[in-house]
Amino acid sequence: MATYRPDSNTLLANDSVLEYVLETTVYPREHERVRELRLITQQHPKSFMGSSPDQMQFFSVLLKMIGARNTIEVGVFTGYSLLSTALALPADGKVVAIDVNREYYELGRPVIEKAGVAHKVDFRVGDGLAVLDGVLAEDGGAKAGTFDFAYADADKLQYAGYHERLLRLVRVGGTIAYDNTLWGGSVAMTRDTLGSSEYDRVVRDYMMEFNAAVAADDRVEACVLAIADGVTLCRRVK
Ligand code: CA
Repeated sequence: MATYRPDSNTLLANDSVLEYVLETTVYPREHERVRELRLITQQHPKSFMGSSPDQMQFFSVLLKMIGARNTIEVGVFTGYSLLSTALALPADGKVVAIDVNREYYELGRPVIEKAGVAHKVDFRVGDGLAVLDGVLAEDGGAKAGTFDFAYADADKLQYAGYHERLLRLVRVGGTIAYDNTLWGGSVAMTRDTLGSSEYDRVVRDYMMEFNAAVAADDRVEACVLAIADGVTLCRRVK
């Protein structure tokens, strides 16, 4: 029986496998500024909110593979994934970055500026659903279907709402990634394995519903990756 490891950054069999991947493939070619912001983020008391370095490397490769130019990120925290994304976009690329909190982003903003990619970042403070609705309404709806990639990692209990909006913003053939969809593997465990956290149980139940809904959604072709805390990738097909 698998055990729930709330402090782990991987669904791999053990943390030493993750260390191996990080030391072998991720850290040796990590951008200097990405490393700087990763270390700032790892020292933050809420460091669990930061995305995993191996996942960021995957997104960076993926963004280049699909030739992404316009992207959206819902949930910024310190801007660690935002910096990684901005670096992966071409010089005229843009990332709309949304977070309810600007204070955490202020930790990463100077690093993003130093990296020379601040001009690609359109940071908007506010609730994810409300800001996405705002983007959809902009320029008489001209932004619909113009994004190549979206990454949702904000309020876990709003993923279904993000999905409806992101499906309108991302172009047909574009990609939407949802973070933490395996919630420490708890989606495949009994509810009482999760210990005392009611929030963990609520999110675990929500992710089970969300994963089932995405799997049945004929507007997307989806797959789940057991990287970091579980990432669901959706390709919009209609
Ligand atoms: Ca996350």
